[in-house]
Amino acid sequence: MSTTTKYDYDLFVIGAGSGGVRAARWSAGLGAKVGIAEEYRYGGTCVIRGCVPKKLMVYASEFASDMKYAKDYGWNVENSGFNWSHLKTIRDNEVQRLSDIYVSLLENKTVEHFEGKGVITGPNEVTVGDKKFTAERILIATGARPFFPDVPGIEHAISSNEIFERETQPKSVLMVGGGFIAVEFLCILHGLGTKADLSYRGERILKSFDSETACFLQEEIKKKGINVMTHSNITKIEKNSEMYSVTFDDGSVKEYEVVFYATGRIPNTQGLGLDNVAIETHKNGRIKVNEKFQTNIPSIYAVGDVSSPMQLTPVALEEGTHLAEYWFNGKDFKMDYKLIPSAVFTSPPLSFVGPSEDEAKELYGEVDVYTSNFRAMKYTLTEGQERTFLKMIVNPKTDEVLALHGVGKDVPEMIQLGAVALKAGAKKADFDATIGIHPTSAEEFVTLRTKRD
Ligand code: NDP
Repeated sequence: MSTTTKYDYDLFVIGAGSGGVRAARWSAGLGAKVGIAEEYRYGGTCVIRGCVPKKLMVYASEFASDMKYAKDYGWNVENSGFNWSHLKTIRDNEVQRLSDIYVSLLENKTVEHFEGKGVITGPNEVTVGDKKFTAERILIATGARPFFPDVPGIEHAISSNEIFERETQPKSVLMVGGGFIAVEFLCILHGLGTKADLSYRGERILKSFDSETACFLQEEIKKKGINVMTHSNITKIEKNSEMYSVTFDDGSVKEYEVVFYATGRIPNTQGLGLDNVAIETHKNGRIKVNEKFQTNIPSIYAVGDVSSPMQLTPVALEEGTHLAEYWFNGKDFKMDYKLIPSAVFTSPPLSFVGPSEDEAKELYGEVDVYTSNFRAMKYTLTEGQERTFLKMIVNPKTDEVLALHGVGKDVPEMIQLGAVALKAGAKKADFDATIGIHPTSAEEFVTLRTKRD
């Protein structure tokens, strides 16, 4: 129910991505008068240039190996090449369809939307272009943008934003970084037929992930023939007619058609007017919020990548829903960031829920670890040498399953449901007492009997 008396809106949201749209339409559904401003396209990173178009490209990239294996199974198929421009057209159409749905969702709940950059001009005031609005609460949900380190020639590099805009398929790409985006696009581009190399400054990709699982993925990626350069730093990038010359810190120089940086994302707060009301941020620019997502200015809140410790769409959605219910339905909440499952859509994908083995040891002392490493049945009639790795971490004192990790086809689908079991406090004995579905890879999680040394 609307609480506004002296303000134009009960809630004004800046940014129509996952968190912002969720908070806006949920609040309006509960009777609040809501306005929202978006300067680019409705849907935010996830819909426009993140999870959705990326996953469509993952599917596209997997057909190359599927066609190879189809032949092994007796199908008469020829891989006569990939049409980048066809995929771009149908992918962009789908993204537009989803973006339009976001607008309809807002309009169905009578959220008033404004095209333009929302700037905070007072604790209860937002300016969009030449319009000024007052609101009892302001919600910042402006997301994040790619971060580029300071390297000579960095202006020649692209990010995940620009890869979706390319009209033609690059013949060669250097991916820089070892996080989610770098390894996902490394596998996508390789699968589509681009020569893709990875340059990562550390020892192994996905540094904050379970070490054994990330190492397994790194080896699977190398087995595909992808050049994974670790302890590798770039000292300069130079344009050289149609190609870019990249100089590495070991003195070597390589040429690529595209240099793609995926070195993290930073909160989108530039020009937002944070200084107008002195909103505090962390060192990395992330907006500081309390447990109720409230900034140091009591009427201003923030959700999603601009403030959240986890840059994940479902986290932003959950934060937005909680806030709407809290403000307009009187429901108290405490966001739980533990046991949030996550996946890296490489080929094969990696997924997990719960702490890494090192984190679990820090939290619980000694832990029991069960692993399974096998060649999935699908590949037995093919020359495919891909393997699957599954890992379970158990608290030996309580028998509680602390974490599940894995790399392999369909592993994210397994982990999503495993997360329900872990949320419910499942013990190893519960997994053991569950009958498997045979033959699947997932059944390994209920037949893990031997502890790893
Ligand atoms: P990540 O934080 O995952 O990875 C950044 C990578 O860049 C790290 O390997 C880091 O190295 C490296 N790096 C950072 N600074 C530099 C530098 N100055 N020079 C060289 N390398 C550097 O960021 P991403 O951009 O990949 O993704 C951002 C976020 O988006 C993710 O954290 C994730 O939350 C989200 N995301 C989620 C996806 C999913 O759910 N499937 C998909 C894509 C993104 P080091 O490890 O040494 O610090």
